[in-house]
This record gives sequence, structure tokens and C-alpha cells, in this order.
Amino acid sequence: MSDADADAALHDALECVVRRNPGQVLFRQAVHEVLESLAPVVKQHPEYVEGGILKRIIEPERVISFRVPWVDDSGAIQVQRGFRIQFSSDLGPYKGGLRFHKSVDEDTLKFLGFEQIFKNSLTGLGLGGAKGGSDFDPHGKSEKEVMRFCQSFMAELAHHIGADLDVPAGDIGVGGREIGYLYGQYRKVTGRNEAGVITGKGIGYGGSWARTEATGYGLVYFVREMLRESDISLEGSRVVVSGSGNVALYAAKKAAQLGATVVACSDSQGYVIDEDGLDLDLLSEIKDVRRERLSAYADVRGNCTYFEGRSVWDVECDIALPCATQNELDGDAARALAENGCRVIAEGANMPCTEEAIQVIHDKGILFGPAKAANAGGVATSGLEMRQNAGRLQWDFERVDSELDRIMTDIHATTAATADEYGMPGDLAAGANIAGFRRVADAMLAQGVI
Ligand code: NDP
Repeated sequence: MSDADADAALHDALECVVRRNPGQVLFRQAVHEVLESLAPVVKQHPEYVEGGILKRIIEPERVISFRVPWVDDSGAIQVQRGFRIQFSSDLGPYKGGLRFHKSVDEDTLKFLGFEQIFKNSLTGLGLGGAKGGSDFDPHGKSEKEVMRFCQSFMAELAHHIGADLDVPAGDIGVGGREIGYLYGQYRKVTGRNEAGVITGKGIGYGGSWARTEATGYGLVYFVREMLRESDISLEGSRVVVSGSGNVALYAAKKAAQLGATVVACSDSQGYVIDEDGLDLDLLSEIKDVRRERLSAYADVRGNCTYFEGRSVWDVECDIALPCATQNELDGDAARALAENGCRVIAEGANMPCTEEAIQVIHDKGILFGPAKAANAGGVATSGLEMRQNAGRLQWDFERVDSELDRIMTDIHATTAATADEYGMPGDLAAGANIAGFRRVADAMLAQGVI
């Protein structure tokens, strides 16, 4: 196919997303980022255009939207919106997390569901792509309110999921506590003990060892692979992490285990800098157990500084790991990191770097680990949890962790080799998009127009 025809097909697909999804800027950003890398593939494989792959892959198979009524502790009735975006089942059952955050809307979940297709493809575990959630904000809610909300949410979602159909997991605002309530309600509604219907479960009722740690640990295994042929080492490096939730905490723990000093982390209110290295057990206690704000860490720890409302990307570091949320690292933040000597940025969160930031990172020669590859460890380990559930087995921590390490090493090798193959050595973002896309596109061609 000629360059012009390939560019026209990609342009048409993006134009279709803009026209059909007015105001959905995150979804459009995510699609643009993928399509932009696909020109060399489409030129070599005109069958993808002839088979309508570009037109089909940008349209979710199904968008489910529902009312979630619940009663708060004062007896007042609240109504939230619930969603499940079943984007693609070409490689296997729909798979992707649930997000509970006040910002959740159809746009957010379509962007996340679209990204999930390619990430899940990269794991090689036979998983389709999906995402779901609600605009419910768990912050400040009592334990009972969280439980009642989860039960109402699952009362509807249960009609749309299943171990061979669609398998949700956690994401922002959905951790072990919420997964427990969601799974309990699924059993109640369906009358079935179907452990493989949801991942991230507790160890005592069908969960997998190392699932809690997986996204953060996997991110650092990926970074270790990125650094293998460079003069940078995790050992002795200064690391800054954004967020202080599940991904941030376990990325920090693994980086510290491998010899780095993690000097700063953040939440939505501010950041803390601790030059001696963060006390990660204390951080875990404050965020996971006490469910307090990050400022409480500084109060308890002492000898460190908390900055309200300021950007964690102003902190000097060798390696930056954005692990909070989308578009949290913009062009100015990328410039600040570069000026302060940062040499590696790897995405633990989904789409944390804006398009401008990625351009700056590229121009400044900073090594870049894209989310689709670098944070795939969570869903990969969810895939391992599904396998254990199907066999009614429970592997030990070391086995799951070593499988995770192997999968992350393979994903890095595949993305790097694909970038080389298409003439973009070192461009792991392009490598991840192309490798993830090709596996799905081939499956779509093989299965016909459905
Ligand atoms: P958590 O809810 O455990 O933690 C989220 C953290 O990010 C909190 O510290 C939160 O601060 C902060 N945060 C959330 N929204 C914002 C915002 N708008 N501005 C600044 N900070 C914010 O979520 P996870 O750690 O699970 O998820 C973090 C990211 O990683 C997300 O992008 C998610 O999609 C991605 N991810 C998660 C996976 C997983 O297995 N959990 C797998 C792959 C990707 P606060 O408490 O103040 O809101």
C-alpha cells in the first residue's frame, strides 16, 4: 500500500472517532497515540485496511451503562452511574479493571478500554480488552457505604460478566476491600461459586499470591530490562514515584529492593519528599490500613517535607515513575524532569504522560517505557489468577512472581524487537502499539467480520 493510502486510512479512522464521540477527548487522545504508530504496519499489510480492521477496532463491541442507586449512612438515596465497556473479545474474554472515582465517565472508560486491548494482547495470555467503573468516590465514605454501593453496582454488572465472558479487576478506588464486596454480591445474585469471574480476590477465597504487588513489581522489572544495555542502574539511582496507591506503593517497594532510593511520592493533594528514602512500611500503613492522606505520613515520620498542591515532578531524580492517573505529567513537567537530570520515565499509570510530554521526552533523549507494556504486569497476573481458578489451584508467591518477571521480560523483548523491525530502534511506545495491534488484527482477520 502506498504511503498516501496508508495515511488516508489512518486519518479516516481518527476522523471517525472524533465525529462519533463528540467531547470524548481522552478516548480521542488514546486512539491518536496508537494510530500514529501504525503507518509502517498498514503500508506492509494492506489486508488490515481491506479487512476493515482500523474501522472495527475503534468501535467498542458493547457499551453498557446503568443506574446505581444506594442508601448512605444518613438514610438518603444516592444515585451513581455505572459502566462496562466491552471493547474487544477477539483474543479471549473481555478483561480490564473497574475504576471508582468522581471523574469517571464514558470517555475515561473508553480510553482505558481501548488501551487495554493492546496491553492484554502484549501479555500473550489470550485476553480481550474492557474497562468499567462508576463516578462513585470512595474517599470519605464509611465501610458500610462502600459495601452497599459495591452491592448495588454488582447487582446489575453480574448480568454482563462471567469467567468465560468478561472478567473485571481493580483500578483506581477499587482495591481488595471493594473486590471482596463485589465478588460476594456476584455469588449472591447468581448463586454460583465462579472464582474466575473477577480477579484481585483475597488469598483466602480464590485470589492469587502476588496480584496485589504485580503492577508495581512488573513496572520495575520492565525498567530493569530497559536499563540492561544502558549505563544507568536501578542500584544507587534516585527514584520519584507519583501517587501513593497500589501501583505506586509496590513500584516503590520493588525499586527499593533492587537498590534504588525512592525519595518522593504524591497523592491528589500534594507530595512528600524524604531524602533518606521513603519509609514504605509506614506509607503502606497510612494509605492502605488507615486510609489517610499523604500529609499524615509527614506528620508521623518527621524529618521529611510535605508540599501541598505542588508537582512531584519538580523533585530531582534519575528515574521517574508516574503511577497516579492520566495526563498527570505534562510538557512543563517533562521539561522540569529533563532539566533536573532525569534519564528514564516509565509509566505505571495509564496514559499519565500527555502527548506534549512524550514529545519532550523523545526530544531530550530520555528513555521511555510506555504504559501498555510497562504496566501490563497487573493484568498478566490477573491472567495467572484466572488460570489458577480454572484448575482450582493456588500457586505460591515465588512461582507467580517469577512468571510475572518472565512475562515482563518477554514484553520488553517483544516491544524492543518490534521497534527494531519497523525501523524505530529504542522507540518502545511504537513497538508496544505495533506488536499489540498485530496480534489482535490477525485474530480479527482470521475470525471474519463479526
Ligand atoms: P489507587 O486508587 O490505588 O491509587 C491511585 C493514586 O493516584 C492515589 O494516590 C491517588 O491519590 C492518586 N490519584 C488519583 N487520581 C488523581 C488525580 N486526578 N490527580 C492526582 N493524583 C491522583 O489506584 P492504582 O494504584 O490501582 O492505579 C493508579 C494508576 O495505575 C491508574 O492509572 C490505573 O489505571 C493504573 N493501573 C492500575 C493497575 C492495577 O493493577 N491497580 C494495573 C494497570 C494500570 P488520592 O488518594 O488523593 O486520590
